[in-house]
Amino acid sequence: MSYDPDNIFAKILKGELPCHKVYEDEIALVMMDIFPQSRGHTLIIPKAASRNLLDADPAALAAVMPLVQRVARALKTATGADGLRLVQFNEAPAGQTVFHLHFHVIPIYDGVPLGAHAGSKADDAELAVLAKDIAAAL
Ligand code: AMP
Repeated sequence: MSYDPDNIFAKILKGELPCHKVYEDEIALVMMDIFPQSRGHTLIIPKAASRNLLDADPAALAAVMPLVQRVARALKTATGADGLRLVQFNEAPAGQTVFHLHFHVIPIYDGVPLGAHAGSKADDAELAVLAKDIAAAL
């Protein structure tokens, strides 16, 4: 399978589509998942083009992981989550729906079941507040 440069995250990275941005640098874009599985579900999208983990440049992976950790820490502070799940899907049978590498950081709240993967759309105003709070905790 090859990389499709017109995938939705590539378009967001190019600024052709909007997002609730938390943070951006030369390595990655961090944004809110608009169909969150829990309050604060955040995506880290490396700028280096790859479909997923399988075809990623190891150097790009090494560059992005410290940011994944930073976002996880900020997310815990900003949301008060009891735990966090780090998730990354590879190919459609495994649940991947957008074919540009990304990492999900999903807050876990005691006693609250996770919503469905890519389930229902969150309120934009709420996502905007969360993006600001997480950015402030970075
Ligand atoms: P995956 O199954 O790992 O490819 O997950 C793709 C994720 O992107 C899902 O959790 C979707 O809810 C999320 N998603 C899809 N479109 C958008 C979008 N335009 N902005 C933010 N998140 C999105």
